[in-house]
Amino acid sequence: MTPRRDAGIRSRSATATLSRVRVAVLSDIHSNSVALDAVLATFDRVDAVWHLGDVVGYGPDPNGVIDRLRAIDASGVQGNHDAAAIGGKEIDWFNPVARTAMIWTRDEIDDASRAWLAELPVRRETSDVTLVHGSPRDPTWEYVTSVEIARDNFAIIETTHVLYGHTHRPMAYVERDGTVRPLTPDDGSTVSLDTGRAMLNPGSVGQPRDGSPDASYLVLDTDGRTCTWHRVQYDVERVQAAMRTAGLPRSLVDRLTVGA
Ligand code: ZN
Repeated sequence: MTPRRDAGIRSRSATATLSRVRVAVLSDIHSNSVALDAVLATFDRVDAVWHLGDVVGYGPDPNGVIDRLRAIDASGVQGNHDAAAIGGKEIDWFNPVARTAMIWTRDEIDDASRAWLAELPVRRETSDVTLVHGSPRDPTWEYVTSVEIARDNFAIIETTHVLYGHTHRPMAYVERDGTVRPLTPDDGSTVSLDTGRAMLNPGSVGQPRDGSPDASYLVLDTDGRTCTWHRVQYDVERVQAAMRTAGLPRSLVDRLTVGA
């Protein structure tokens, strides 16, 4: 794969990343460094890490998550929470609980974190894959939650595949001969990258909403041409304790237990 366009990818990491073989794709980490550490600990042979935004928001450790992503040279895109954290008007669309957490996050992040978030583009493209937080036609806000929405987005993309997040649910839409098929992947599910075009959602590392509290991510094997989902248990109670100490809203603490 070689970079084709979109200046969003910094050239050094783009060149390095695209020649690599196994790419771990993480989304919606949401300031949960405990979940992120559990995920990173499972990588036995990962050559690069991409993220799909919402690095911060909701959770208790925004600077810790960003420090870790910097340390492993992860490249990615900006989500609605990341935009809000650096002062964006996105916060006006947040529900009261998300807004409370975001006001805390704005106060908590340091200058280095703010600068790192501000540098994230809303879209990145390789020759093969588009990376967005929401959807290709609305990278910041659209939730891809139906075959119809997926079909509309397949119609406008210029790459073969799309990686997206935002819904906090692992999901795939595979398009072949004009038909879009939805797939709900479990731990270990694999999709071939050669059976058609695909929109692939790794689920959420830091705040899953599919009924399982386990952190979710996927690995793209650009050599074997597969995408495989993974779930990882982590110490939920430790994060919840940190959230209570930070004074974050109770409902955000509680939802981590059930993955909702
Ligand atoms: Zn999110």
